Amino acid sequence: MTAVLSSDLARWQKQLEQRWAAPLRQARDRRVHSQVMADFLQQVETDLRLGLKPQEAAAIACSAGCGTCCQVHVAVLEPEALHIAAYLRQTRSATELAELRRRMNRLCIAIEGLDEEERAACGCHCVFLDTEGHCTIYPVRPLLCRAVTSTCPRSCRDALRLSALGEQVPVLMNLFQKELMESAFRGLAHLWQQQGGDGRSFELTAAVRRALYAA
Ligand code: SF4
Ligand code: SF4
Repeated sequence: MTAVLSSDLARWQKQLEQRWAAPLRQARDRRVHSQVMADFLQQVETDLRLGLKPQEAAAIACSAGCGTCCQVHVAVLEPEALHIAAYLRQTRSATELAELRRRMNRLCIAIEGLDEEERAACGCHCVFLDTEGHCTIYPVRPLLCRAVTSTCPRSCRDALRLSALGEQVPVLMNLFQKELMESAFRGLAHLWQQQGGDGRSFELTAAVRRALYAA
């Protein structure tokens, strides 16, 4: 298997689209959707691991329990929202889903219409972040959550605090990971649209709520 190069992500995205065009056509059927999405994400993660240089991987400071970044807007695609919804149905009881629905409704109301700075200022965490700072949908988390890394958790906290005050503070992150995940996101959007789906992106909470409770 050849490692992906950061200079070659446009070609990688094209190959990803060629490889996943047929499976994603089948994934329009809800019965196989989750398996196709799980396999798609696994390939993206494998290619990330192959392409990340060891010294770059070692510099990434993200760890379980550090959820500071989980209070910003996250965009997801329809196939990602469907995948997350299916995962929640499999892993949560009816009582837990009802409670989640209440929390999603509250968050949707709290963040509706907020821009990035206002979202940072409101201090509203993602509904999928638990009280220990862990992502409770980690295996199916959005591609754009996977894009975010940092070499220093403190700089993330500073950036978020100052963003709420309208100041931009750069956070050193792994650009290869960011660009690879964003390429996968664009590729998935393109493929989904080609299959007759909606290729637009949506705010995470609203999209999962719709996928979970509209069915
Ligand atoms: S990006 Fe920053 S806040 Fe988010 S997990 Fe990594 S170190 Fe923590
Ligand atoms: S889905 Fe998970 S990783 Fe993404 S913002 Fe929510 S808690 Fe954080």
